[in-house]
Amino acid sequence: MGLIVCKFGGSSVAGIDKINKVASRIKSLQAEGYGIVVVVSAMGDTTDELLKLATGIGNNLNLREMDALLATGEQQSAALLALALDKIGCKAISLTGWQAGVKSNSNYSKAKISGIDKQRMEKELTAGKIVVVAGFQGLSADGDVTTLGRGGSDTSAVAIAASLGAKRCMIFTDVDGVYTADPRIVKEAQKLPSITYEEMLEMASLGAVIIQPRAVEFAMLYGVDIEVLNSFSLEPGTIITEVTNMEQHKIVTGVAHDCKCAKIGIFDVPDKPGIAGIIFSALARAGVNVDMVIQSAMREERNDIAFTICSDDLHLAVPVVEEVVKEIGASGMSYGDNVAKVSIIGAGMQSNPGVAAAMFEVLATENINIQMISTSEIKVSCIINEDDVETAIKALHRKFKLNQIND
Ligand code: ADP
Ligand code: ASP
Ligand code: MG
Repeated sequence: MGLIVCKFGGSSVAGIDKINKVASRIKSLQAEGYGIVVVVSAMGDTTDELLKLATGIGNNLNLREMDALLATGEQQSAALLALALDKIGCKAISLTGWQAGVKSNSNYSKAKISGIDKQRMEKELTAGKIVVVAGFQGLSADGDVTTLGRGGSDTSAVAIAASLGAKRCMIFTDVDGVYTADPRIVKEAQKLPSITYEEMLEMASLGAVIIQPRAVEFAMLYGVDIEVLNSFSLEPGTIITEVTNMEQHKIVTGVAHDCKCAKIGIFDVPDKPGIAGIIFSALARAGVNVDMVIQSAMREERNDIAFTICSDDLHLAVPVVEEVVKEIGASGMSYGDNVAKVSIIGAGMQSNPGVAAAMFEVLATENINIQMISTSEIKVSCIINEDDVETAIKALHRKFKLNQIND
C-alpha cells in the first residue's frame, strides 16, 4: 500500500464546515487504498490573531514563549480534523509536531527541522489509522517547542513525506495550483501543469507564498514529488518535480512579487577594505538576512551603500545600523518599507540573452523607477516603489505572454 502525505492550509480548515469537507476528501483518498498522513495548518487567520493578541503585551516579546503560543493554533485544527474523521468512520489520531517526532534546532520563530523520529507515526499507520499531524512546529534538543517560520506547515509535510518515503506529498490550498503569477492579482494568470524544483524554489523565495521555500528545498534534496491542488475541487493541480518538458521552450515561467521588503541606505561610507564586512556581520549577528545590496560610485573616497531586508526585521536592523554608522564614520542613514520586489523567473532564461533588458523596458514604459536590480541564471529581480507593484506584475505578465503559456 502506498503512502500519501496531504497538507491542508489555513483557509482549507478555516471552519467546521470546511474541516468536515476536508475529512470527506481524505476518506475518499483512503478508499483508493493509500495510507495517509495529514498535516494541518492553523484554522484561517489563527496565527495572525495569536500574534496580534500577544502584541497587547508589548513588542520584542520572548521568542520561546511566542513559539509556545503560536504552536497552539495547529494543535486545535489537528484535533478537530481527527474528530471529524472519526465521526465519518475513519480511524484517526492527532499528533502534535513533537509527538510525531519532528525535531528542530532552537532558532525560535524560524526553526529548521533537523530530523524526524518516525516511529510513532509508523506505529499508528500500521494500526490502520489516519495520522493527523499539527504542522509548523517541532521540538528543540532542549525539549522546547519551536515554530518553523510563516508557511512552515508546507515544510512539515514535505519533511514527513521524505522521512516516511511517501509516494507523493499533496499540498491542498485555496487555489488550483501554481500559477504564472498570483491569481488573486493577475486575473489572466495560468495554472502550470508542472514546474521544476529550481523554478519553484526561486518563485517561492521571491515572494510567491503558495509554498514555503524550505519545503521545496526538502523536496529537491530527498526527491519528493509535490502536487499543489485545490482542497475543494477535483481539478488536477501542479506537479513540482525534477525536470519538466516546459523548460525546453519557455523563457519565462512566472512573475513573483514580494511586498515584505524594506530598504536601508547608509551615506558617505569610507571607501576602504573591511567596511562592508563590519556592516553585514553586525546585521548577521542580529539575525537579519540581507537580500540585495547596491553601492554607488565613489566620490571623495566615500560611497553610499543601500540594501534590502525583510520588512519584519526592520525593527532589529535599524538600531544595529545606527551603531555601525557611528563606528565607521558614515554621515547618516535612511530607511523605509515602501518598496517591493518584482521578479521574472524561468529556466529558459539562461540561454536567452535580452530577457533582463525586456523587463527593464516594460517597467520604463509603465514609468516605474527601478531602485535596485539582481539577477541569477533563472531570475531577474527589481526593487520598485510598493505602489507600482500591481501595474508592474500585470505589465510583465503581458510582455512575456504568460497568459498563453499553456497554448
Ligand atoms: P495556505 O493557507 O493553503 O497555506 P497560502 O495563503 O499560504 O495558503 O498560499 C496560497 C496563496 O498563494 C493563494 O491564495 C495565492 O494568492 C498565493 N499565490 C502567490 N503566488 C502564487 C502563484 N504563483 N500561484 C498560485 N498562488 C499564488
Ligand atoms: N499557521 C502558520 C502560518 O500561518 C503555518 C502555515 O500556515 O503553514 O504561517
Ligand atoms: Mg501557506
